Amino acid sequence: MNVLVIGSGAREHALCRSLSLDPAVTALHCAPGNAGIAEVAELHQVDALDGAAVAALATELGAELVVVGPEAPLVAGVADAVREAGIPVFGPSKEAAQLEGSKAFAKDVMAAAGVPTARSYVCTTAEEAAEALDAFGAPYVVKDDGLAAGKGVVVTDDLEAAKAHAAACDRVVIEEFLDGPEVSLFAVTDGQTVVPLQPAQDFKRALDNDEGPNTGGMGAYSPLPWADPKLVEEVLQTVLQPTVDELRRRGTPFSGLLYAGLAITSRGVRVIEFNARFGDPETQVVLARLKTPLAGVLRAAATGTLADLEPLRWSEDAAVTVVVASHNYPGTPRTGDPITGLDEVAAHDAPHAYVLHAGTRREGDDVVSAGGRVLSVTATGKNLTQARERAYAAVGRIRLDGSQHRTDIAAKAAADA
Ligand code: AMP
Repeated sequence: MNVLVIGSGAREHALCRSLSLDPAVTALHCAPGNAGIAEVAELHQVDALDGAAVAALATELGAELVVVGPEAPLVAGVADAVREAGIPVFGPSKEAAQLEGSKAFAKDVMAAAGVPTARSYVCTTAEEAAEALDAFGAPYVVKDDGLAAGKGVVVTDDLEAAKAHAAACDRVVIEEFLDGPEVSLFAVTDGQTVVPLQPAQDFKRALDNDEGPNTGGMGAYSPLPWADPKLVEEVLQTVLQPTVDELRRRGTPFSGLLYAGLAITSRGVRVIEFNARFGDPETQVVLARLKTPLAGVLRAAATGTLADLEPLRWSEDAAVTVVVASHNYPGTPRTGDPITGLDEVAAHDAPHAYVLHAGTRREGDDVVSAGGRVLSVTATGKNLTQARERAYAAVGRIRLDGSQHRTDIAAKAAADA
């Protein structure tokens, strides 16, 4: 199979790594990619938001499957353009991607499908926002309606800060605060059949002990030893399948990756948000544990044949990812700093630990930082404790001036297990 992956983050590096290990994959391309992806796939320059350009590239390469990694191209209709060119694509249509692109749309679908979520109001004026904030009380949850790379949400006890965030957005969703641990559950779907993956947890705050600002994600682990073993089946029945059924009923079937961000509250599971693509950094740990070759799974979703897929096989191992970020992330990150120690990880820590690249590029013989989240250092082990030790040992070999990482990824789950 000839496969083209669209994107340039550590999620796409994880996808490309798994695809490169799949014997069915005979040619692997990525656009635009990064310095790490270049080691497993042939890179191509393309504007990932330009559907016609992506479809033309896929046609020229003879791709038999296109996998769209990030949300922005999906919301821009890139999957539609590739599908119209007659090439199977893993990723939802522009309309179905509104499940992520508009929080108000997602709330409407959930209400129609009877999916449990936080009670909420959609507000377009300061007065409406003030009323909704009063109605729910603190802690306040204010979400920008549009795409914001995980950074459009403010959760605060400070009413003035909540109002200020609402005022900065055209349209906001204000909702009740959900208490309890969070779980990310991914499912692969062809618009009808839904195949859940293994759950993971990510760490959104920049600093240890969940302090500091929200980020795109600073680390993740899987499995979740503390979670109810029936959780996946319950979420399949109460959240994933009803949502997929509702979108099909509306004439906008969702195929690709449905990501449910969940809160496990004392009153039961609630959806915090949906995403229309693989989550970063959870993908890094989920794919580290998937034993079924990936290309066939994604192609079955893209071609409407998931019902025929054998049950997925999973490793018993645990996986941990630690994100290494640039100086000043998530503010304006400093870029262009050389990264060293990557070959030491390859020499000492492989195959249990490996480095997935996010914001990196090659400058001559050097790899330099090129974004906020720079690397996803991922490791597997017989349990979370061993996976953590291996991940942090590898992080310790990497040198990037001014870089930051959390030291407590999966620490509590490993200690409690
Ligand atoms: P979202 O972009 O909707 O995933 O929100 C980002 C983060 O904000 C989530 O992962 C939660 O940590 C937090 N959050 C969002 N909605 C709520 C809520 N209703 N109650 C508590 N925390 C929330």
